[in-house]
Amino acid sequence: MTNLVLYRKYRPSSFKDFIGQEHVVKTITNEIKSGMISHAYLFSGHRGTGKTTLARLFAKAINCQNPNGAEPCNKCSSCLEINEGRAVDIIEIDAASNRGIDEIRSIRESIKFAPNFLKYKVLILDEAHQLSKDAANALLKILEEPPSYAIFILATTEAHKMIPTIASRCQRFDFYKLSYDKVIEKLSLICKKEKVEIEKEALKMIASASEGSMRDAEGILNQVLSFLPDKKIKGEDIEALLGLVKNSIIINLVEFLIEKDKAGALKFLGEQIEKSIDILELTSSLIDYLRKLIILKIDSSLITSVMPGETKESIKKAEEQAKRFEESTLKKTIELFLEAENKSKYASIQQLPLELAIIESIGMQ
Ligand SMILES: [Zn+2]
Repeated sequence: MTNLVLYRKYRPSSFKDFIGQEHVVKTITNEIKSGMISHAYLFSGHRGTGKTTLARLFAKAINCQNPNGAEPCNKCSSCLEINEGRAVDIIEIDAASNRGIDEIRSIRESIKFAPNFLKYKVLILDEAHQLSKDAANALLKILEEPPSYAIFILATTEAHKMIPTIASRCQRFDFYKLSYDKVIEKLSLICKKEKVEIEKEALKMIASASEGSMRDAEGILNQVLSFLPDKKIKGEDIEALLGLVKNSIIINLVEFLIEKDKAGALKFLGEQIEKSIDILELTSSLIDYLRKLIILKIDSSLITSVMPGETKESIKKAEEQAKRFEESTLKKTIELFLEAENKSKYASIQQLPLELAIIESIGMQ
C-alpha cells in the first residue's frame, strides 16, 4: 500500500464532498452556475490543502454534459473520462519536474487546437512558481491571448515567487491550511468507510502532525494501516509511527553532515520545512541524537543506557554513524547546533541559524 492510496480513493468527486476552502468553493461554484468563468486561475496555498483536487473538480464541472447547478453529474462521458484520468483535453503538468521552455512550447502548440472531446481544454500547472524565467515568459504570452476554449489553473505553494504579470492575469484564490476539526472530520469519515476502529487520541495525533495538510493526514493513516492489518488503531500506534518518521529525518540529516554534502543537507532541510516540520523540535532532536553518537564514540558499551528501548536497526545505524564522525568534529557540531537552537527562538527566518550551523559544521571537517 502506498501513501497515496487513501488520498486517491477519498478524493471528492463533487463540490459538496469537498471539505474545507469554503470561500473558494462558494465563489467558483457561483461562477460555474452563472457561466462567468475566468480563463486563468491562481490557486495558492500550503501543500495538501486541495488545490489540484479542486482544479480537477472545476475542470470536470465546466465540461459536464449534464450538470446539476455547478455539480458535475459523474455519469456523462466527459465526467467519466475525467474521473478515470484519460481525458486528453485535461492537461496536467508538474512544473517542479517540467520547468523548462520546451514544456511551455508544447502547451502552446496543443492549446492552438480546439479540444477533441470536451467543451474546454483545461491546463493544470502544478508548482507553477518553479517555471524557469523563459518558460514563465512563454506562459505569459499564452495567457495574454488565450483561445476561448482554454482554461488555465496554476497551482502554487509559493505565490510570491510567481512573476507578477502572470499572477495579475489570473483570478487568485488563497487556500488555507485545514483546521484541526476539519482534518478530524475527514479522517473519521474515511475510518468509518474503511471499517477502521480508531481511538479519539489517535485521530487527534494525526490531525496535529498533519499541520493542516489533508494529504499528510491521509498518508499517516495509510501508513499505520499498512502495518496494522486488524484495522484497530490506538494512540500509541500513531505515536510509534510518528517517532519513526522523525528518526529517519534525523538520521538522513546526519548522513549529509558525515558526507560533507552542504547542498544536499540544505535541500533536505528545505524539504522538511516545506512539510511544516517544527524547526525547534528538529534542532533539539538533532542535538539529542548527536549526543548519543558522541557517547557511543567514547564508549560503545553505554549503548543500552543512551538508547533504551530503541530497535536493533536504529542502534546499528547510530553505531555506524558514530564511527564515521571525528570526535572533535562531533563535539564542535553539537556546540554549533546548541547555539543555533537558542538563536532560532528569536530569528526572523527561523531555519537560518540551523542552516548556518550545518554549513559551518561541514566546512570545518
Ligand atoms: Zn457529467
